[in-house]
Amino acid sequence: MGTEVSPKIDPSQVIEHETYELEGVDISGHWNRMFEQRVIFEYDVEQLDRVTELDGGESMGWCYQCSQCIGVCPVDIVGDYGPRKIYRKLQVGMDFFSSDDLWLCTTCGNCLRVCPKEVDMLQIMPAAREVAVLEGAVPAELQDVFEKTARYGNPLGKNPKRRTAWTRGLDVEVPIISELDRKVDVLWWVSDYPSYHPRGMEASRSLARVLTHLGIDFAILGVEERHDGDSMLRAGEEGLFEMLADQNIETLNKYEFDVLLTTDPHAYNSFLKEYPARGGEYNVEHYSTYLAARIEELGLSQEVGGKVTFHDPCYLGRQNGVYDEPRELIEALPGVELVEMWRVRQNGYCCGGGGGGMWLDGLAAEHQTMRLSEKRVLEAVETGADTLCVVCPYEVSRFEDAVKSTNNDGALKVRDISELLAQALGLASD
Ligand code: SF4
Ligand code: SF4
Repeated sequence: MGTEVSPKIDPSQVIEHETYELEGVDISGHWNRMFEQRVIFEYDVEQLDRVTELDGGESMGWCYQCSQCIGVCPVDIVGDYGPRKIYRKLQVGMDFFSSDDLWLCTTCGNCLRVCPKEVDMLQIMPAAREVAVLEGAVPAELQDVFEKTARYGNPLGKNPKRRTAWTRGLDVEVPIISELDRKVDVLWWVSDYPSYHPRGMEASRSLARVLTHLGIDFAILGVEERHDGDSMLRAGEEGLFEMLADQNIETLNKYEFDVLLTTDPHAYNSFLKEYPARGGEYNVEHYSTYLAARIEELGLSQEVGGKVTFHDPCYLGRQNGVYDEPRELIEALPGVELVEMWRVRQNGYCCGGGGGGMWLDGLAAEHQTMRLSEKRVLEAVETGADTLCVVCPYEVSRFEDAVKSTNNDGALKVRDISELLAQALGLASD
């Protein structure tokens, strides 16, 4: 039996009535009143094509302007942004590659979560930014970070020889793997802010104490460690990412270890998703999941008390599905009540540090009513919590600055989960 095919509609036969009444009912209705004949606009797609023709930029062209992304974009919440708006501006002729819009996205991934067309800013942004990087059209504050990272191996521009300065005078031993000359159970990838930033160093010392308390056979790379490259990649410096990743893989492949333990969710993300394609495959774990699996062994006994709220890092939560383990650790702290902010888990609000945003606060300030970290701190204060707990090294310094700039000094403390665990174990603190 043959299949019956509907006749093809000939556009010239389609008649649109300005008003139409069917069986006494006006089906044109008030919702269809245009007051004039409908017009179909044709846009010059040149600027849109420049983005969609890039490897990774294709999905920019799939947007159908539904606006789902706008309500969840953290940048739009304090400004005027989001994929729908970028698409619209491209339609009317914006040159994306010279626009500040190119740099405001933190690659937090919340728009992709809700987009019915899978417009993927995590692919679009690095691809488009790479064009600007190659043309030398990068905001000065970010260019400075690219140069420091290329030269010193860390975005802070610190002396690579001082990577282990945080271990000096510590009451526990932090072995360097090159000095051990043997396999270790855990190779701890400390990362830059935990190695160099004063607050990050304090959190690192707490984590070293907690790992020692657990009797973990761990070591660090010390001066051989470099920036993992993840944020450089999202910020468009693919060449720098590749250089760092290849150097790091060469270093890591010299040693034997069972677990690569990361402090930084961005490093965790990169080791999981980017390094394997370059020959670096590791059993990588974030310290929050590693410690949550050992809650019983930790034996948390000292009263910590108070109300603690938790910030989901985009690169740990939304992008890698880790939501429960940090909360399990907080709930295990004696006397602590976990109070949640209203934007949590998959809808967690970005701190503003991802995708190069860590180093673009100056540019962002020209376009936003407040920093994303300030917005998040206000949400944390609203819960009545006395402590904002974090598990990402970008956040301690970002949120502590935001606590001060929103006049919440004294009302809200920002603490890494390692610091809270060390307190609950009665271990020394800095
Ligand atoms: S959610 Fe997706 S399709 Fe809808 S406006 Fe945003 S980018 Fe476009
Ligand atoms: S990735 Fe995040 S910051 Fe970027 S456009 Fe999407 S929701 Fe906004």
